[in-house]
Amino acid sequence: MNIYDTIVQIIVFWLGAAIGSFLNVVVYRVPAGISILWPPSRCPQCFHQLGMGENIPILGWLLLRGKCCHCRTPISARYPLIEAITAIIFVLVYNRFGISIQTVGYSLLMCWLLALTLIDLDTMTLPNPLTQSGLVLGLAFQAAVGYIDSNHSAIGMSEYLIQGILAMVLGIWIYDAIQIIGSIMMGQLAQGGGDAKLMAMIGAWTSWKVVLLSGALASSLALGGFVAMAGYSMIRAGGITAGADRLTKPLPLGPFIAMGATISLFWGDSLMASYHQFMTSPDRYVLALPLLIFLSMLLVWTRKMRLIEQ
Ligand SMILES: [Zn+2]
Repeated sequence: MNIYDTIVQIIVFWLGAAIGSFLNVVVYRVPAGISILWPPSRCPQCFHQLGMGENIPILGWLLLRGKCCHCRTPISARYPLIEAITAIIFVLVYNRFGISIQTVGYSLLMCWLLALTLIDLDTMTLPNPLTQSGLVLGLAFQAAVGYIDSNHSAIGMSEYLIQGILAMVLGIWIYDAIQIIGSIMMGQLAQGGGDAKLMAMIGAWTSWKVVLLSGALASSLALGGFVAMAGYSMIRAGGITAGADRLTKPLPLGPFIAMGATISLFWGDSLMASYHQFMTSPDRYVLALPLLIFLSMLLVWTRKMRLIEQ
């Protein structure tokens, strides 16, 4: 690593931290319906407006020792943590895609995914303004990549745009199919909601392959998370009832979908390659993959839909 690259990495890190700071504002204000631009960052307790020094990502919180300098109300460690996570994600994206439009685009996608993950964990919702703006931005990104990759041709641009639109439709369609089967299985109308829009948004940014892989990974991760939480409740409360009780509580799917999409985007190619190697027969590959995807999705998503219904 030369000195030039080190400097770029540091710049990318701090850019990510600054944007992470803004994401904290988005996550706090969007579900509450407050403007994300006005008023400027302030203490939620005494409304003391943050000064220049206190506004520095990560370091501001450390300088204040996690307390508002005005009223001494503790400030959650989550804020600097999100800033640090965003900074690390930006560096990872930069190292993967270099100086390119992909780095800019995928960094933006990661911001949307992170904000939606946190909002889903906080409120069990995925706000429409975020999924919709993310979707439009994703299609714009596809068009831009197509335009650049095809040496500035309108045909190249529309090819990529169509790829994004198809993947977007597939994202909704997969979710719809699962919803219909879930409804039949349960004998009542199952409700999906924001998760389908999130899948569509991911499709707009990527491709049908990434959508399929994201869905499959999201379902497996959610299933694992569900079992782990049930196990944890069981151990903590010392009984099977506590574990069963946990299983009846709703589980936000957004974080798992975001995780699935991130893994697919960064390691999708190598994942698919090793899977292909594992399933040496091409016929088995063709049969096993959709089946695996479909079963895991069915298991997790119908589970969640029934929980919403209750
Ligand atoms: Zn304060």
